Amino acid sequence: MSHVVVIGAGQAGASCVAKLRSEGFDGQITLIGAEPVPPYQRPPLSKAYLMGEMAQERLYLRPAAFYADNNITLRLNTKVGEIRPAEKAIVLMNGEGLAYDDLVLTTGSVPRKLPAGIGGDLSGVFTVRDLADADAMAPAFQPGKRLLVIGGGYIGLEAAAVAAKLGLQVTLVEMADRILQRVAAPETSDYFRALHRAHGVDIREGVGLVRLTGEGHVTGAELTDGTRLAIDLAVVGIGIIPATGLAEISGITTDNGIVTDDYGRTSDPHIWAAGDCATCNVEGQRIRLESVGNAIDQAEAVAINIMGGDQPYVPKPWFWSDQYDCKLQIAGLNLGYGQVHVRKGEDGAQSHWYYKGDRLIAVDAMNDARNYMIGKRLIEGGKSPDPALITDPATDMKALLKL
Ligand code: FAD
Repeated sequence: MSHVVVIGAGQAGASCVAKLRSEGFDGQITLIGAEPVPPYQRPPLSKAYLMGEMAQERLYLRPAAFYADNNITLRLNTKVGEIRPAEKAIVLMNGEGLAYDDLVLTTGSVPRKLPAGIGGDLSGVFTVRDLADADAMAPAFQPGKRLLVIGGGYIGLEAAAVAAKLGLQVTLVEMADRILQRVAAPETSDYFRALHRAHGVDIREGVGLVRLTGEGHVTGAELTDGTRLAIDLAVVGIGIIPATGLAEISGITTDNGIVTDDYGRTSDPHIWAAGDCATCNVEGQRIRLESVGNAIDQAEAVAINIMGGDQPYVPKPWFWSDQYDCKLQIAGLNLGYGQVHVRKGEDGAQSHWYYKGDRLIAVDAMNDARNYMIGKRLIEGGKSPDPALITDPATDMKALLKL
């Protein structure tokens, strides 16, 4: 009987095994995860869960019984230390060996940490990737405490929003000229800067961290503009690194992610990869998409291809972020955009439409689910309305789908 082993029991790993079974794979399936809990969703860790508004069980992607019911062997608290591609076998950290016919790497990513030399190892300094990180951090979010958030990407901004709502005094520093610089247009940065400032967050852009200070516990921060801050805790949100170590030591090709072909296959014909750790093809460029949508879709494509489906994976990027009462929804990918057109709607709804030449490539929609859906359908259908129609408040946006 054929045996598929999946390493990494996160979003992509869980999606891959579920898809194998729903597509009728009747061989053996083993899903191995280093964490002690069944596969769960990470996005709430910097949103509702951190806020204390969501129970741990609600994070789980599937009920615990799902795996046994579907004859999937789920091995938690188990780390894989080595792959032996020539033998089609893996070795667990406890020395146990396991043979596979196909192996899927869904090892995710790890947060970039501050070096110990600049205070990264002080207590009270947190990153947020795992449930354990969120559980360690949440009790420190006490009203009145002074929090420094390092990094103005989505995770840093979400942590800042939760902290501000809980009554902490929040300062956020972003080394680049503006928050969200890597991922969004200035118009979107402006929107979220204003939103955070309205909630009392002190956002400082073009300002980096020199070091965190303290004796054991963090008590201060020195910034690149010479400012010294007294703080009680710090959250570090400075990006992630794909978890490619296992692939690298096993001779599988990596290049800022595990290199995969359009079908999700790595440099070894019996080893596949999906999710944060893997690359995918976006318009001829191999990049990594760090999102739930990509983790699910790429992993499902791998499952289909293991079963001989021969289906290239074509990403349809989407993403979201929750900050205060704003739900941001993003469709498409804004790589190489030229212009951004702003549409303002009722009740504070706003959307930013990215064009590359005369092609619509992405939409950021703030409290505007309707235009997010319309934008997503336009992008996926390869339709690019005249930008003048987008900005005209009189345009019936739904009618654009029929153009
Ligand atoms: P992961 O979910 O990270 O799973 C990888 C698993 O592999 C981990 O459990 C790890 O322990 C395990 N593993 C690694 N190495 C080994 C080994 N050697 N042996 C055994 N197990 C191993 N995306 C969105 O689209 N929208 C959002 O709003 C959003 N918010 C986010 C908020 C936070 C706080 C975080 C951390 C992420 C957020 N993301 C969001 C990103 C999204 O969660 C990730 O893109 C997604 O989880 C990637 O899934 P994955 O399966 O590739 O990796």
